[in-house]
Amino acid sequence: MSETTVLTGIEAGQFINGHPVSGSSEDVCTVLDPSNGEPLAALGTAGPSDLEAAVSAARAAFPGWSTATPGERSAVLARFAALLEERAEEFAQLESRQAGKPIRLTREFDVPGTIDNISFFAGAARNLEGKATAEYSPDHTSSIRREAIGVIGSIAPWNYPLQMAAWKILPAIAAGNTIVLKPAEITPLTSLLFAKTASDAGLPDGVVNVICGRGSTVGAQLLRHPDVDMLSFTGSTAVGRTVLEAAATTAKRVHLELGGKAPFVVFDDADLQAAVHGAVAGSLINSGQDCTAATRAIVHRSLYRDFVDGVAELYSKVRLGPTLDPATDMGPLVSRQHRDKVAGMVDRAGAYARVIGGGIPDGDLAAGSYFRPTLVADAPADSEIVRDEVFGPVLAAMPFDSDDEAIRLANDTPYGLAASAWTRDVYRSLRATREIRSGCVWINDHIPIISEMPHGGMKESGFGKDMSTYSFDEYTTVKHVMFDLTGAQTKDWHRTVFTL
Ligand code: NAD
Repeated sequence: MSETTVLTGIEAGQFINGHPVSGSSEDVCTVLDPSNGEPLAALGTAGPSDLEAAVSAARAAFPGWSTATPGERSAVLARFAALLEERAEEFAQLESRQAGKPIRLTREFDVPGTIDNISFFAGAARNLEGKATAEYSPDHTSSIRREAIGVIGSIAPWNYPLQMAAWKILPAIAAGNTIVLKPAEITPLTSLLFAKTASDAGLPDGVVNVICGRGSTVGAQLLRHPDVDMLSFTGSTAVGRTVLEAAATTAKRVHLELGGKAPFVVFDDADLQAAVHGAVAGSLINSGQDCTAATRAIVHRSLYRDFVDGVAELYSKVRLGPTLDPATDMGPLVSRQHRDKVAGMVDRAGAYARVIGGGIPDGDLAAGSYFRPTLVADAPADSEIVRDEVFGPVLAAMPFDSDDEAIRLANDTPYGLAASAWTRDVYRSLRATREIRSGCVWINDHIPIISEMPHGGMKESGFGKDMSTYSFDEYTTVKHVMFDLTGAQTKDWHRTVFTL
């Protein structure tokens, strides 16, 4: 694939009001291929005038888009899904190259998941729900209008750039909002192509706008823009706090999808092989750069040694390699800087726990930002590797002796995004789903997501839901409309204010 093919139509760096627009800022974002450190693209970023243009375009598009019938919105989204499917391979390759994902992952997960998400919202656009119109008082008819909020300012992370663009954009526009999305500055390419593809499919100009640039500049300005009605953010908990502070200045509605530190609880009756396979896949997907990845294996003492040996053995067989090679199991981390952060945490863990595997490969892979799968066994519950987000191919493991202790350890984290429990006992599985405080609990699996079901956190993992019709609760507001039925000039309740 040539460089020109990679960047057709998105070289400008922004997509505003239905057109590619060159960023007016002098700050240039260079997108690197994490497989080899080579530059993939250098994009101009948004200056204040570009941000202004994007928000104005979204504002101008709002009246038309929000009053389009659900059927009209649905039809455009269905065409968008079909066109993205035609361009699936282009998306898969671009996503792999910019984010360091193995091509098998982008072909089989990121891209099909994105198409399914668009298709789901094409249908869901016609299914906004509310309470029945009825006479809740004898003298009135009440009805509910579920209305779009307006212009959504959305900021996304680098770990699943394409899927995050879909998760942020689709529920918002299906419900009639318009949006300005800022992807992560190191992985903007598929978000730009996504917006262009939507436009090519017939989405009206200004409904989806993408601006590029750093969080501290472009992102911060988007958060505080007075004409943005709602902020929808996916990223770290630290930046999520900044989003909340910014929202306070103009009382914007906020939806936050933040960090995670998912427990992976293996009870003594679990199928050990299933748990070992699940832990390896659940911790290494996307090189562990997944907010729901299995990061804390909490394993009954009777299975602990075999679990550690099984995971370590399978980790050693995982093939690291370049992203576009179909034989590659695990690609690089997203950047050198991030790889060095992961390596530092693993180095420090060596002082207090047993580190198995890990390390930076040399030879052909030395130019990329690779890190080998790493198991940190016997990690104390209060250690850095257990408490903080590593966001790399690293699984910490610790034993437990009783079910009470397992549940306590699972909940011993400020995060609450996802969790899994491995057991063949129906009562234990019910207890785990009831007592583990996280937005999702899998039983005997870890990672699968589906468009029909919500994704979102509790505690410091944020609030609000992506995907599913639950996401409409974030992106719509309900309005009560009340009709007087009597036609009377004086109502009974007026007696509380005046008497004639
Ligand atoms: P990040 O918080 O550093 O950056 C996320 C986005 O925020 C980027 O676009 C960045 O440019 C922007 N940003 C940074 N500082 C900003 C500021 N001051 N003002 C406005 N915008 C700013 O996160 P990341 O490193 O890109 O992604 C990894 C994090 O995302 C992890 O914590 C991970 O758990 C989380 N994540 C969560 C979910 C979820 O669904 N809960 C999904 C994916 C990733």
